Amino acid sequence: MKEKKETENKTMKPKEHLAIFFRGVKMLFSLSRVYIVCTIFKALLGSVIPYVPIYFSAKLLDEILGSVRTEQMVLYVGLTVGLAFLLNLLLTWLTVTKEAMEEELYRERDWMFSEKGMGMEYSCTENRDVAFLLARIQEESNSGYNLFFLYHSLGLGIGHITSIVFSASMMVSFFMLDAVSIYAKLGMVSGIVLTILLGIFATAQESKIHVAFYHKNVNMNVLSGKYRSLLANYATGVDIRLYGMEKKIEKGREKTEEEYYRNCMERDKKCVRFSVLCVVLQHLLKFGVYMVLIEAALCGAVSVGSIAKYVACIMLLLGAVSGLVSAVQRLCSNNYYLRRFFAYLDIPNRMYQGSLTVEKRLDNEYYVEFRDVSFCYPNTENYALRHVNVKFKVGGKLAVVGMNGSGKTTFIKLLCRLYDPTEGEILLNGVNIRKYDYDEYMSVFSVVFQDFQLFSFTLGQNVAAAKEYDEARVAECLSRVGFDGRLSAMPAGTQTYLYKDYSREGVEISGGEAQKIALARALYKDAPFLVLDEPTAALDPVAEYEVYRKFSELSGERTAIYISHRLASCRFCDSIVVFDKGRIVQYGSHEKLVADTGGKYYELWNAQAQYYVGKAEKT
Ligand code: ADP
Repeated sequence: MKEKKETENKTMKPKEHLAIFFRGVKMLFSLSRVYIVCTIFKALLGSVIPYVPIYFSAKLLDEILGSVRTEQMVLYVGLTVGLAFLLNLLLTWLTVTKEAMEEELYRERDWMFSEKGMGMEYSCTENRDVAFLLARIQEESNSGYNLFFLYHSLGLGIGHITSIVFSASMMVSFFMLDAVSIYAKLGMVSGIVLTILLGIFATAQESKIHVAFYHKNVNMNVLSGKYRSLLANYATGVDIRLYGMEKKIEKGREKTEEEYYRNCMERDKKCVRFSVLCVVLQHLLKFGVYMVLIEAALCGAVSVGSIAKYVACIMLLLGAVSGLVSAVQRLCSNNYYLRRFFAYLDIPNRMYQGSLTVEKRLDNEYYVEFRDVSFCYPNTENYALRHVNVKFKVGGKLAVVGMNGSGKTTFIKLLCRLYDPTEGEILLNGVNIRKYDYDEYMSVFSVVFQDFQLFSFTLGQNVAAAKEYDEARVAECLSRVGFDGRLSAMPAGTQTYLYKDYSREGVEISGGEAQKIALARALYKDAPFLVLDEPTAALDPVAEYEVYRKFSELSGERTAIYISHRLASCRFCDSIVVFDKGRIVQYGSHEKLVADTGGKYYELWNAQAQYYVGKAEKT
């Protein structure tokens, strides 16, 4: 990632600029072809329209000051107004069509991003660099950069090029006039070229100031966004209120925003001198052009109408050239944002490299083996697991015990391929699990982690983890985990919404109820492996007893892995793995482990037994 950061800040070569530009254009086309075609036509039309009145008004003026033929004058007025009207009508239609499709395009882009996020390796989602890259891209997209900046600049660029072509072609006749001296023509061309060059210089400087400003503020923007979302967040709202944190958060936000506005002022101050320079130059040129044209008019070389036409064309030409320069500069700056955008989309997903199908064995003889597995979480240096070696048979009941932070959950996360081991390998029937098709391997596990999440969908959809579900099966799973009483009290049964995000009638549920729903979800999936990580932590004693009592029935023929720090609840498992400081220190049946009085299991067992005995004695 350090390497990635270096590439991120590296100046791009023209070849790279072009590659990124074309990739962006290709992506825009793939997102919405019609929208882009509309944008191009709108740009072309928008830049042609101003030339209609310029051209015909000049003709009209000459007619008024010349032959004064009524039909000709009516024709020019008709063309000036009528043609402009028709073209404007077409432009309005294109604008409305384009805007109507804009939402669609935004949604397509957001889906593309969400799909990338969902398809990404889980370990990447918590990688700090990836998270920052994503936050940065979102911030840049909200500020109008990336893909949408590309399409805006593309539209502008096409418009400016059209404008340049039209202005230049309408100016050709001026340079053909013999009556205008070569010096006047050269003076005019030099003035235009000088103004263009200085315009390029000023735009380049402004663009540099803008890019530097953004680089300076990127962290602050991300931070400020985080502060804002903290204050608006329903989940953090309780703690913020209880511990009076609003003011501190607000202060933090104010500080970042004050600094941001200070930087804005500084940027604007730096930019203003270049804008003034451009305005002064353009007006000087305008003055010069008028002088040349008036002189030509006095000699009778150009008509009054043509003077107006040429001045308007030169001004449009200058505007278009500086607009084009600015569009190119901004496209180049935007390429740096696009590079980050594509870097995110290009993050590889090594999880999906396997292709083997998980073997369906009739004899149910499956073995899982951890072979010298060590693991470090992303962005950390300490090993959460160290040289873990264990082999267990599928179909049995395995308990995983140990103190907090000893590595139990990490062990399960590796087994479920949420992460790949840093060292060593995990085998299913002798085959490295990385070789299996990822989705198929994942479908083998039903897991309830401690920090499981429910969604603001209906109860049935939460249990089935799908939009459509088998109602009877959902009710059966809920009943098996002791949720039947609560279900019958729900206003719309399994169709009741959880929480109030999507429905006014949504219900709030307690931590214990949520845990039961999560258990029911694991049962509904009906996968060969049932993994429960502290499944009863939020349950009341009666519900907890029920889960223990029914554990064998709940897990049925499946392999059940049960993580708990309540050792009494692990006695009914066939074997127990004891973790301590990231290592497996013991493995065996309860009887065997408890007999080892010098072992960790005995120490944990004894500590808990004393606690219960002490309690019992006191009562
Ligand atoms: P247990 O389940 O036994 O309580 P864990 O497996 O959750 O323990 O954690 C083992 C170690 O890994 C702990 O030191 C913990 O701080 C660390 N750890 C857990 N999750 C992460 C994570 N996502 N990123 C970094 N470190 C983590």
